[in-house]
Amino acid sequence: MKRVILIAGGAGFLGSHLADHYINTGDQVVTIDNLSTGDTKNIAHLIKNPNFSFFECDITEDLPSAITDQKFDVIVNLASPASPPHYQRLGLETLKVGSVGTLNLLVLTRESSARFFHASTSEVYGDPDVHPQPESYRGSVNSYGPRSMYDEAKRYSEALIYTYRQKYNVSTCVGRFFNTYGPRMDADDGRVVSNFIVQALQDQDLTIYGDGSQTRSFCYVDDLIKAIAACVESDAEGPINLGNDGEFTVSELAERVIKLTKSNSKVIHLPLPGDDPTQRKPDITKAKALLNWEPKIQLQEGLEKTISYFKKQIH
Ligand code: NAD
Ligand code: UDP
Repeated sequence: MKRVILIAGGAGFLGSHLADHYINTGDQVVTIDNLSTGDTKNIAHLIKNPNFSFFECDITEDLPSAITDQKFDVIVNLASPASPPHYQRLGLETLKVGSVGTLNLLVLTRESSARFFHASTSEVYGDPDVHPQPESYRGSVNSYGPRSMYDEAKRYSEALIYTYRQKYNVSTCVGRFFNTYGPRMDADDGRVVSNFIVQALQDQDLTIYGDGSQTRSFCYVDDLIKAIAACVESDAEGPINLGNDGEFTVSELAERVIKLTKSNSKVIHLPLPGDDPTQRKPDITKAKALLNWEPKIQLQEGLEKTISYFKKQIH
């Protein structure tokens, strides 16, 4: 049966891929987005599809009646600035979307008796002193610093979802995403994979922040979208880590991008931003067991796909 799926943040990188997923499963997709970091170009190919609609609105404000008058089967909350330069520029908006915005969607979830999925993040672990990070690790977050608006907004939204679920018995799932990359990342978004690929394709120096020894685990977008869909179909409550557990230093990533793009670029080192986590790698035991899911696309293949997307954007 055709379901009605609401995607908040649906004009963003991940939201637009999730919209594609639910259009392909034959569902009706309603997207809302305030376009603060997203772009309608990400959903331009869907706009004429009768199963797709888009409303420009902010989930921290009163939602339009076109949304509040509808019943949804599934509500997915991806709305939030996600890249450090964006969430630092939009600090108060980031805190508000994690708190007020998440609450508004929970109210809508209760009114619709919908299944609610929320995008949390590996940032709830801060600069972790447990490695890899299982869901049971409580994190090492600086609550008063340059990443705190994002980290604490996401921690607050997890607490809000937990509490709202206890009180109103709504069906919720919290997924903690680890660094995800792929086509439709914004070239100016500021995250490391898009920065390096765009710099390499333009033969500019790749900007490594710090000495490049910090690690991240990079998940290709198609794998993450499958994981989100599996969470929605399951009755898992989470929190549940969703990511690829291959771990790479930022310097290794730069080397791979230069090699794959056959670029003449060199690397330069810029100051490491404050509170930048030194290591990050998900323990995905829980996702494998509960969702029968595991990432399939490893860094080499994912980078190749992403590079060919950016080649078309740039040239
Ligand atoms: P993105 O910036 O491309 O998408 C976020 C979308 O939310 C944008 O389209 C933006 O315009 C929209 N938005 C922001 N505030 C809003 C508001 N108040 N009302 C309505 N729309 C709003 O980033 P993304 O990578 O697609 O991230 C999607 C979600 O996943 C975010 O919640 C992010 O925190 C989370 N996440 C992403 C990653 C990753 O590596 N991509 C990792 C961890 C968590
Ligand atoms: N980074 C970098 N050069 C860039 C952008 C980011 O060296 O041009 C580093 C950043 O300092 C961090 C890692 O790459 O250590 C991942 O950064 P990103 O912004 O993609 O994600 P996050 O820090 O949120 O994991």
